[in-house]
Amino acid sequence: MPTVTIDNQAFAAEVDETILQVAARNGVWIPTLCYHAALEPYASCRLCMVEIDRGGWWQMVTACNYPVRRDVTVRVESERAIRARRGVMRLLLARAPESPELRALASRLGVTQTDFPTVTEAEGNCILCGLCVRACEERIGTAAISLTGRGVERKVSAPFGEPSEECILCGSCAAVCPVGTIRLEVHGDEWELVPFGKKGPAQRCAACGAVLTAELVREALARRGPAAVQGILAGEELCARCKRKKLVGQLLAAGGSGAPSAPSER
Ligand code: SF4
Repeated sequence: MPTVTIDNQAFAAEVDETILQVAARNGVWIPTLCYHAALEPYASCRLCMVEIDRGGWWQMVTACNYPVRRDVTVRVESERAIRARRGVMRLLLARAPESPELRALASRLGVTQTDFPTVTEAEGNCILCGLCVRACEERIGTAAISLTGRGVERKVSAPFGEPSEECILCGSCAAVCPVGTIRLEVHGDEWELVPFGKKGPAQRCAACGAVLTAELVREALARRGPAAVQGILAGEELCARCKRKKLVGQLLAAGGSGAPSAPSER
């Protein structure tokens, strides 16, 4: 079992675990944007750069896709690694200067502004991490969206910029978008996938028939990953209120003294 030493702390690792996985499992924060546990690592944003010891010289690698196969010494908080991550963040900020999510992450990294020319045409603050495209293709098996164009014209879009017939409105792309550019919005009985314009009947709670909110879908997907998609599309998902009722029922049935009181029915 290899040992990963991160900033002088030694952690046991499984063979082929990534540095990022070992760090996360042990409470060491390494920033990421294009990483999602449910998808294959892609290392496109470069925000997870760290240094590793290569027998006396230190090499910059991306933690999300660096597999641990033998003992490795890692520097996350070295001056060079911090400077590299801040440089990447300044580039990302130039791409999506108005994104609250990105600004919050930048602030955590000590970056408050960018000195690169701002790409004002950037559509909806997309940082082109590609998570949405990979979620659709890798997990849903539906290439309903893709990265198109080059340079500043590069963007994520549906074929011909029209709402895709392939899209099943599962919400996976919205759930993995780290900057909130893709959103599942609820309009009455209808869901709309913004900004792709795909609309369709909203999925409903299996118990009470209430329309499932975008927040609920996002939370279900974040917690259970793409596995939640099947249940949502099959109409097996519960709304937040019915979930609480079910939980309270289970606690009471189990005879749990100390069970929380039932939520008020409003
Ligand atoms: S909502 Fe549509 S575009 Fe998004 S992941 Fe699902 S099928 Fe793909």
